[in-house]
Amino acid sequence: MNEGTQEKLKILADAAKYDVSCASSGSKRKNKGGLGNSDGMGICHSYTEDGRCVSLLKILLTNHCIFDCAYCVSRKSNDIKRAAFTVKEVVDLTINFYRRNYIEGLFLSSGIFKNADYTMERLVRIAKELRTIHKFNGYIHLKAIPGASDELIREAGMYADRLSVNMELPSEPSLKKLAPEKNYQEIYKPMSSLRHAIIEHKEEKKKSRKAPLFAPAGQSTQMIIGATPEHDLHILSLADSLYKQQQLRRVYYSGYVPVLSDSRLPSISHPPLLRENRLYQADWLLRFYGFTVNELVDEANPDLPFDVDPKLGYALRYRHLFPVDINRAEKEMLLRIPGVGVKSVRLILQSRRFGKVTYDHLRKMGLALNRAKYFISCPGNPFSVMGEHTENRLKRMILSDTTSRLHKSSQLNLFASPALT
Ligand code: SF4
Repeated sequence: MNEGTQEKLKILADAAKYDVSCASSGSKRKNKGGLGNSDGMGICHSYTEDGRCVSLLKILLTNHCIFDCAYCVSRKSNDIKRAAFTVKEVVDLTINFYRRNYIEGLFLSSGIFKNADYTMERLVRIAKELRTIHKFNGYIHLKAIPGASDELIREAGMYADRLSVNMELPSEPSLKKLAPEKNYQEIYKPMSSLRHAIIEHKEEKKKSRKAPLFAPAGQSTQMIIGATPEHDLHILSLADSLYKQQQLRRVYYSGYVPVLSDSRLPSISHPPLLRENRLYQADWLLRFYGFTVNELVDEANPDLPFDVDPKLGYALRYRHLFPVDINRAEKEMLLRIPGVGVKSVRLILQSRRFGKVTYDHLRKMGLALNRAKYFISCPGNPFSVMGEHTENRLKRMILSDTTSRLHKSSQLNLFASPALT
């Protein structure tokens, strides 16, 4: 690699680390005689010490930008070293890194060169050359640039596994304040267009197996958390609507990293990583456990608790619904017991067909009984004491009994050395 490209790589890989929407999974792209494969074992993820995914070649096409978003290191008013790759440089880097087994795919985002179409056209050209000229079958995640033409957005879907349009901030007033050149209408437009195209291509695929793939890993988005005053209630409600209405595969929550000073930004010394973690936990409960947003946060409690995870927080607040009878409860209620995961619920339901499930059976199933024992009733459980304790006392008992790292640790430091295990 020549020195110029190496210098660009340093600048543009560093600038890309603030985008967290890079987890690659769920793609069904098969290798049909070309290079690479994102199916089968899937893409492995590894994380840098700041928790960002690095298994993909994760770069910006450029950190030049005509916009001036307050929270972004690439904003035009920020005095930093700028660089831009050519289409050929990104294609060559991807192929060379792939062949050396450094990466499983490409995550390509960009600042906005000249205008949205000009930038999007280059992003599409890179993905197209990788797929059509180099027969590259590895994973490609492209940013869809709001404001780009519908044709370009749809063309991107023909070559990328996943596309993402960033929401950036959790509300339109916040976007107006911190990124005045952007608006929700321009963000929702490519999102809706991609949703329609994904549905259309799925229908075509049902009719003909030869129909081309279109963004088989769907679309995702990212929101910056902690730079603006929205409560978790607002953030999770927005995420819920994005999952339901726009059929997004993932919403990523990116704790605001205070790298710039601007009077419009809060003065914090650390990114809110614990809050970010709680939002991911709540998001998981929405997607896989059937929780509604209002079970986790509501007008009276608009933010997720820090000291306990969202599921335990729910159980402590709705103590009147517990203990749950392991042998009679519906699946929905079993899923709401702290310490009981989807797999455990499946095991409980299977076991119930053959007789009464006892505390000993649950232990053998591997439930996290240090939490669950206070919220269940079943033969042999001596801990079902819900009614006898206040919320705080119950919380203290559980926390003193748990091995959870999170409640013991202080706010994590983004740039701290990773803990060695
Ligand atoms: S448009 Fe994107 S790259 Fe440009 S300043 Fe805003 S967030 Fe940064």
